[in-house]
Amino acid sequence: MSVHAYGAHAGDQPLQAMQITRRTPGPHDVQIDIAYCGICHSDLHQVRAEWPGTRFPCVPGHEIVGHVTAVGAHVNGFAIGDRVGVGCLVDSCKQCDSCAEGLENYCDGMIGTYNFPTADAPGWTLGGYSQQIVVNERYVLRVRHPEAQLAAVAPLLCAGITTYSPLRRWHAGPGKKVGIVGIGGLGHMGIKLAHAMGAQVVAFTTSEAKRNAILALGADDVVVSRNREEMAVHGKSFDLIVNTVAAPHDLDAFLVLLKRDGAMVLVGAPASPHPSPGVFNLIMQRRTLAGSLIGGIPETQEMLDFCAEHGIVADIELIRADAINAAYERMLKGDVQYRFVIDSATMSA
Ligand code: NAP
Ligand code: ZN
Repeated sequence: MSVHAYGAHAGDQPLQAMQITRRTPGPHDVQIDIAYCGICHSDLHQVRAEWPGTRFPCVPGHEIVGHVTAVGAHVNGFAIGDRVGVGCLVDSCKQCDSCAEGLENYCDGMIGTYNFPTADAPGWTLGGYSQQIVVNERYVLRVRHPEAQLAAVAPLLCAGITTYSPLRRWHAGPGKKVGIVGIGGLGHMGIKLAHAMGAQVVAFTTSEAKRNAILALGADDVVVSRNREEMAVHGKSFDLIVNTVAAPHDLDAFLVLLKRDGAMVLVGAPASPHPSPGVFNLIMQRRTLAGSLIGGIPETQEMLDFCAEHGIVADIELIRADAINAAYERMLKGDVQYRFVIDSATMSA
């Protein structure tokens, strides 16, 4: 079926309206009418070919929510009309240890929601800046939030799980001091989630102007990371820091804020490397520097259910599809509180 979409034909070209084809649902497939799709900074990295290997035309988008419009004969878990989500992956090998453990995100055969090989035309996956998607039911998530919150649920599918997963793995909770660096789409979710888990949360931002708004997200304290004195107050005090910054920067400034055995987990994925951190800042206090990639399907469902239970959604700015390019420019300036979400109904208008 031919559907409306937004994508780019080259890394130096703006996104524009285009038609794409979706497969007829197979026996295990769920066909979804996309209601909303969030704009992740990864979309920009990929569609502008800042990361290597972009295939064009490229239709980004992996924060997808909508409603089921058809199911294959062997689909048991979903029915027409269900509220569902699709995140960053739409397939994996289903046989390796990672798949067996529900960590499909670490499967070598993981198929991302866009820019990964597929048998469907044009030969690579096309993402959620479109009006419809067809996905194997194993990779479809159930949305338990009320219908009225659907647009604000979309960012949970990437920004939510990407921060939830390291917070859980490194045991954010009561008695733990957690730092979140970079308060954009991922960072603002990190604050909300760590706060709901019961941790003491400190937000690190480069934007003085965001200070009061960040406190309202549930942060116990806000540090403007360019201010050395503000940083020094928190020396050797954090159990965990989740770093979401989308640009290379000095990691040492944050490593020294970890207490003994503390960990900083990088989730931000800048196109060029960070300066190498000082080894002594790691060995002197047995600190850990780690990374984390989105989350597996079971944990993504757990995160969505946790958010529904705690009334957590993203803070969003809903936009028309023809405003995507302008939204990218604003995202680059940090001028969004805190996630742009595309209203898919505007794609055909
Ligand atoms: P975003 O909304 O643009 O937020 C990034 C934030 O980082 C900005 O709001 C800003 O926060 C800070 N920042 C940006 N440039 C900076 C600079 N030059 N110096 C210091 N701080 C800067 O982006 P996002 O969607 O949250 O994504 C963040 C990064 O995570 C991207 O690189 C994205 O590709 C990556 N990502 C990784 C995964 C994963 O699985 N690991 C998943 C999704 C996204 P302040 O104004 O508060 O300083
Ligand atoms: Zn993303």
